[in-house]
Amino acid sequence: MNGNISFNIITPQYFGRVQLSLLVLKSYIHSKNPDLTMQLNSFYSEDDADTIVEEISRQGNTILLFSLYVWTEEIVRTVCRRLKELNNDYIIIIGGNIPTYQGAFLLETYPFYDFAVIGEGENTLYQLFDYINQDKADFSTIDNIIYRQNHEIITTRRSDNYNIEEQDYPLLLDDFRDDEIIFYETSRGCKYRCRYCAYNMNFNGKNVVRYYSNQKVENDLRRIFNLPYIKKLDFTDSTLIGNRNRGLWILSLLNTLNSERVAAGKNPIEIGIDVSLEDFDDEILYEVKRLHTFAYGFGLQSIDREVIRKAARVFNRDKFTKYFNALTKKSKAAVNLELMFGLPGDTLEKFLNSLEYSISDLDAHFVVCFRFAVLPGSTFWKDKEKYGITCEELSPYYTLASATFSEEDLQTAELLSFYLQLIYTCFRGIKRIVDRNFHGEKVPVYLKLSALLQENYDDFFHNDRLRQGDVYKFVIKLATQEYSDIKRSIQMDLRNELKQLIENYSTS
Ligand code: SF4
Repeated sequence: MNGNISFNIITPQYFGRVQLSLLVLKSYIHSKNPDLTMQLNSFYSEDDADTIVEEISRQGNTILLFSLYVWTEEIVRTVCRRLKELNNDYIIIIGGNIPTYQGAFLLETYPFYDFAVIGEGENTLYQLFDYINQDKADFSTIDNIIYRQNHEIITTRRSDNYNIEEQDYPLLLDDFRDDEIIFYETSRGCKYRCRYCAYNMNFNGKNVVRYYSNQKVENDLRRIFNLPYIKKLDFTDSTLIGNRNRGLWILSLLNTLNSERVAAGKNPIEIGIDVSLEDFDDEILYEVKRLHTFAYGFGLQSIDREVIRKAARVFNRDKFTKYFNALTKKSKAAVNLELMFGLPGDTLEKFLNSLEYSISDLDAHFVVCFRFAVLPGSTFWKDKEKYGITCEELSPYYTLASATFSEEDLQTAELLSFYLQLIYTCFRGIKRIVDRNFHGEKVPVYLKLSALLQENYDDFFHNDRLRQGDVYKFVIKLATQEYSDIKRSIQMDLRNELKQLIENYSTS
C-alpha cells in the first residue's frame, strides 16, 4: 500500500484553528521523508459531521490521523465511525493526550480506530507510516503504539524515542498562506505540577520541561516574522518565562524582530502568550509590556488556600494582583482569566469568592469558568479514589458531585459561568452598569441575573444541558437577525432586573 496521509484536527470554534501539533508532526516527518504526501485539515466541532466526512473522503487520502482533544472526542468518534462505514480500507490513527492514557480502552471499545499513538508522535508516526506503506504486517517493533491484531489489542514497548532538544528541522509554513494567526511552541512540559493537568506528564512518563534549541527557535521565528500574511503569533508554551533567562531572551528576540519589521515598513506581528504571574519580576514585566500583545491568558483556577494546596498550585495574591494590573490596565490586549470549579476541596462558596476576586479586585476584561475535568494522565485522574473524585467515564470527563460540591451546586456554578460569559460577550452594557453600581459585591448580582435568564429563557438556552463551550453557539445565534427580538428582550429583562437591584442596593 502507498497511502497518502491526512492530519485532521477538530476544535471548538472559540479555540480557533489550532494546527500546531499537526504542523510540527508534518514538518518533522517531511524532513525525514520528503516523498510522503501529507495534508493538514482543520475543522470546527460546530461543523456538521457529515460535511467533515465528505471533505475528508473527497481528498482521497487513505491514512487518516486524528488528534483527539477532550472537547471534541465525541465528534471525532462520529466522524471516524462514518468514514470507516464509507470505506473499510481507511487506516485510522488517533493521537494526543487521551489516546496516550486511554488508547487501549478506545481501541477495545471502538473498532473503527486502528492505531493509537502514545506520547509524542513524531518518530512513532514516521515509523508507522513507513511500515504501513511498505505493507509490513508486524507492528510490534514500533515503540509507543497500540493496535489491533486478530481482535487482540496490543500495546508496544514505551520508550523515549524523540528528543525535541536535538531537532533542527524547519517548520513548513506553506500551510499558513491564507491564515492570519500561527501557533508556535518553544518548549514542551511545565515546571509546575498542578494535579488536574496532564500537560506536564505527557512525555513518555517524564516529568520535565524540554526546550527546542535556541538556534531552532530563532530560525523558526525569523522565518515567521518574514511571512507577509501573518498578523498574529500565539505561543502555546505553558509559560514562556518558566525559565527566566531563556524567557527574557525570547521576549527580547520578539521585540527585536518586530522592530525590524517596523523599520522595513511592515506592521508588527501581534503576540499572544500564556503567563504564570508567579514567575514575574519587573524586568520581565518591562519586556512583556514592549510586546505588541493581542491576548494574555491567565490560568487562575481558584484563590482558595485549601483548593490550591490540594491541586498543588502556586498562588501569591499580592504578586498576582500587582502584575495582573500592571499588564492589563490600559492595555488593548484581550485578557482571558480562567477559573475552575469543582476541584477537590472546592465548594460553591469558595468558587464564588474566586470569581468575586476576578471580576471585582482584578476587573478582568473576560472571565471563563470551567467545570473541573478529570483529564486522563493527570494526578487527580490516576488517584481518583484517594482524592474522592467521581467523574464521567468518557470525555469531557467532568467531575460529578463531590463531598463538598453537590450536583445542584455544580449546576448553579455552571449556569452562572455560562450567563456571565454571555453577558461579558454579548451584553457588555449590562456589565458596565454592574461595574458602576455594585462595588465588591458583583457576584450576587450576576447570580440574580443568571437565575432570571434561566427562568425566562429556558426554551431558548436549554438550561439543563448548558456547558461552557456552548456559549459561543448562542453568541453566534444572538448576532443574527433571526434572534434579534430575543436579544432585545434579554437586554430589556436584564436592565429591568438591574434597576430593581440598584434600588434595593442603595436603600440597604
Ligand atoms: S495547569 Fe498550567 S501551570 Fe499547571 S502544570 Fe499545567 S501547564 Fe503547568
